[in-house]
Amino acid sequence: MTNRQKTIVIKRVPRTVKQHSFPINTKDFEEMKLIAKRYKDVKNYVYSRYSGIHSLLILKNHKKLIRDVWVKTTFAEQWKLPARYWKLALDEAISNIHSLWSNTKNAVRKALRKNPNVTEDEKNYMYYLLKADELLHAILVRETFKKPKKISRLEIRETYIHNLLRRYIRKYKGSIPYSHKETVFIIDAPMYKYIVEGNSFFIEMASLKPRKRIKISLTEPNKYGGNIRIIMKDHSIELHHLVKTKQKTIWNEKNEIGIDKGHKNLLAASSGHLYGEKLNELLNNETERLNKKNAVRNQYWALAKKYEAEGQVEKAQNIWKNNFGKKKYHHQKLKHDMTVKSVINFSLNQFFLIERPSMVISEDLSFVSWNDKFPKSVKRKLSRWIKGYVRKRIEFKCNVWHVEYQLVNAAYTSQTCHKCGEFGNRQGDIFKCKNCGNMHADINASHNIKQRKDDKEIKQYTSYKEVKKILEERIEKKMA
Ligand SMILES: [Zn+2]
Repeated sequence: MTNRQKTIVIKRVPRTVKQHSFPINTKDFEEMKLIAKRYKDVKNYVYSRYSGIHSLLILKNHKKLIRDVWVKTTFAEQWKLPARYWKLALDEAISNIHSLWSNTKNAVRKALRKNPNVTEDEKNYMYYLLKADELLHAILVRETFKKPKKISRLEIRETYIHNLLRRYIRKYKGSIPYSHKETVFIIDAPMYKYIVEGNSFFIEMASLKPRKRIKISLTEPNKYGGNIRIIMKDHSIELHHLVKTKQKTIWNEKNEIGIDKGHKNLLAASSGHLYGEKLNELLNNETERLNKKNAVRNQYWALAKKYEAEGQVEKAQNIWKNNFGKKKYHHQKLKHDMTVKSVINFSLNQFFLIERPSMVISEDLSFVSWNDKFPKSVKRKLSRWIKGYVRKRIEFKCNVWHVEYQLVNAAYTSQTCHKCGEFGNRQGDIFKCKNCGNMHADINASHNIKQRKDDKEIKQYTSYKEVKKILEERIEKKMA
């Protein structure tokens, strides 16, 4: 098994990790909206002022030529933002203008490569200019300049080439990237602090006033460093962190694993392992909690109705006010959903690390009717979003680990025996085959799913009816 230990280092992939806040009180939320709006104003000013050809050289030294000047001349006061905020907005806008320029230059290089009217010498001359901003700037604003040695001996039609360069830049320079979003801003490390109080998690961030911070309740305890992009949602925020995932090791040996969404577990694998036992427990508890809560709410509802009917409006209203709060419900639901997500991700990571699959074979759930597959009790708990979430995360993790992901037709994979092909009965966790005996129902299904990958007759979109016919014919052939 030496092959299995062989690992290949692949490059670090940057990706965005999201954190979420609980609903934020109106006062703080309005203040953050104001920050976002002013932040956008700074960016748009920078775009309008510095994305033109005349500003090409200023970009390189914007800290001295723009930032320091804004401070010295009190120009920055108009933004009504703490310095850290407008400085970040300025940096972000300048960095976007930089990328615009590099896109423009790439487009020019591409056009140049295809241009048959330009000689090799002239191309080299232009490639050189595209890398030397001082010279490029001089040509764009029609100033004279001294040619460096490297290009002084090239034979070129100077006027023609300089005109061509100006024309290309005009053509490929995109429009000014004005920002219309008033819902996004960035904070950097000195502007925030993570705080833990008992079981609650917060981030404190700079407000509009010096030394005053806005404290926001987060749904999970993870802490990150570096810049955070704040995205304002409806009364809550998302915190986006750009992280570089650590190098992943990939394994070369062919190891195809079929998986089935388990009844009591998140996953059953054709290796015989089950993953995510905790999920069922978690969902059971939540269902129970919601049922209890609903029962209590129904009692209050009846009481309020009764008071209302009797004309005791104030009493009725008090009950409404105190017992039907959406906010607390929302809070708990969010917390629950976050826990479910973290259990799912934890279990999937375990799956990948233990199985080390080269390919994951899964049923195509978009094709199979969800109704046929699960009993009512399970369907209720595995709400639609969980199903979608699991599918997305498996796809994502396959991507991260460089594992192939294949969908197959799932028809009858939980109703037939993977050893002999006979139709059997399922009782809870147990699948009963009259030839082969009892086996774990979900593991049996995961074997069938794995076998479907190489099935010459049953394709991903073969109809349910057709699949049944094929399976029955196979059994008959065996008997004969
Ligand atoms: Zn069997």
